[in-house]
Amino acid sequence: MTAESTEAEPSASPSPIGRYDVDRDGLAELLAGLPRYRVDQVWEGLYTHRHGPDEMTTLPKDLRERLGRSLLPSLSPAARSVSDDGDTVKYLWTLGDGAQVETVLMHYDDRTTVCVSSQAGCAMGCGFCATGQAGFERHLSVGEIVEQVIEAQRQADRDERRVSNVVFMGMGEPMANYDATWAAVERLHGDLGLSARHLTISTVGIIPGIERLATEALPVNLAVSLHAANDELRDELVPINRRYPLDDLAASCDHYRAAKGRRLSFEWAMIAGVNDRDRDAEELGDYAYALGAHVNLIPLNPTPGYPTIGTPPERIRQFRDLLRARRVRVTVRQNRGTEIDAACGQLRAEQQIAGPVRRRKGS
Ligand code: SAH
Ligand code: SF4
Repeated sequence: MTAESTEAEPSASPSPIGRYDVDRDGLAELLAGLPRYRVDQVWEGLYTHRHGPDEMTTLPKDLRERLGRSLLPSLSPAARSVSDDGDTVKYLWTLGDGAQVETVLMHYDDRTTVCVSSQAGCAMGCGFCATGQAGFERHLSVGEIVEQVIEAQRQADRDERRVSNVVFMGMGEPMANYDATWAAVERLHGDLGLSARHLTISTVGIIPGIERLATEALPVNLAVSLHAANDELRDELVPINRRYPLDDLAASCDHYRAAKGRRLSFEWAMIAGVNDRDRDAEELGDYAYALGAHVNLIPLNPTPGYPTIGTPPERIRQFRDLLRARRVRVTVRQNRGTEIDAACGQLRAEQQIAGPVRRRKGS
């Protein structure tokens, strides 16, 4: 028997697993009986070279074939749109069971950011959000999250860029899928080499999740989707506020900041006539200043289920200045890829209406 055919001998008949769901121990099990260095080679192939088994030319052919049958990709492309002259690429993926999620890759002058989904759908029911309007489907696995970054990096490789930042701001509520989210964070840090200060978890304000995050060794950035700084309005816009009201949320944010010394930011989708009045700026200013938080203002993207318009640019600037007058650090965020519906959940929403093939400029 040749060395090659011995190596390719299956140690058992494992059921297929997502390529990025397998951990090192699982891989070692899959490669039981083969030399130890094979584990490192495959791991390096997956993470350093972002190769599928068929591209791992350092492996014997029959081992590649066997791994190709056992380590399946989790994501198949359903749609891909390019905008901002190639600087924003948005993906819609179909998962093994037919669920669909979105990922966005954004190149900036000084960084390349990937926005990943943590769930298919979301149970939090924020009325202005396309994902919330569609409801909850299921949690994503660690591999389904990590593979979104791998695929984005494969595109970035072609663009001669390196993914430097990952934000959990796609579909779903990361804190409601904590274990997989955190395992993905550790994988991105340990195996893709992303630094903790370039990883950001965005939450609608799930306090037990923030508390748990404060106990983790890796200090990641925390973003909280605030959108209102009084309980009456926030109960309406972000229904989970009824369970985790603003005073408790502030205490938890303060605790996180003290424990980790990491940047805390508040997201504020600016909704015309709803949360862009002077008194909203005053309430937000007081709330953010007390916590030393940075505020990101984002014009609302109108969605089919919430046809209110976003605040016009002139009013956004005034609102920003009201916050600055209260000594709050504030950024007006460009809505990257509006042209391709890059707000959370919108590509999928449109896809379900428009059918499977969707192309835009440059795609
Ligand atoms: N569930 C988490 C992570 C998703 S982040 C969270 O809510 O924080 C997605 C961000 O986009 C959140 O800040 C969310 O409030 C915001 N968002 C959702 N729908 C939007 C819309 N139609 N226009 C602008 N921002 C929106
Ligand atoms: Fe879920 Fe976030 Fe959308 Fe709210 S804004 S429904 S928490 S994804």
